[in-house]
Amino acid sequence: MADCLFCKIAAGEIPSTKIYEDEAVLAFADIDPQAPFHAIVIPKKHIGSADEITAENSVEVARVFEAIAKIAKQENLEKGYRVVNNCGEDGGQTVHHIHFHLLARRNLAWPPG
Ligand code: 5GP
Ligand code: ZN
Repeated sequence: MADCLFCKIAAGEIPSTKIYEDEAVLAFADIDPQAPFHAIVIPKKHIGSADEITAENSVEVARVFEAIAKIAKQENLEKGYRVVNNCGEDGGQTVHHIHFHLLARRNLAWPPG
């Protein structure tokens, strides 16, 4: 999608620090990390938010979660991790291409603030 930051990162038009990539998914380091390990995991195909997941595109989200399990092994996150999706205004979503924050390497508070 034109003018979508994460589509541009997926296309390599904007540089990122790549953590994992396959045909459907890209994971890269968050520019403003909230934990010692903080990756943003995206489907390469544009989906605006979790609110736009349908029977037609949910395979892209499934691929993201398959990738997360691989990244956890690749990065030795055996102590655990948190996957966060911010959706919409009250959810705190600032980039309107669905993405999952993968946070690890510190004890993450629950419930979140
Ligand atoms: P949201 O608030 O939409 O859930 O998360 C957007 C995330 O993208 C934020 O954690 C923010 O730090 C990250 N981010 C925004 N712009 C860039 C960028 O240009 N490069 C990278 N690597 N991360 C970004
Ligand atoms: Zn996009």
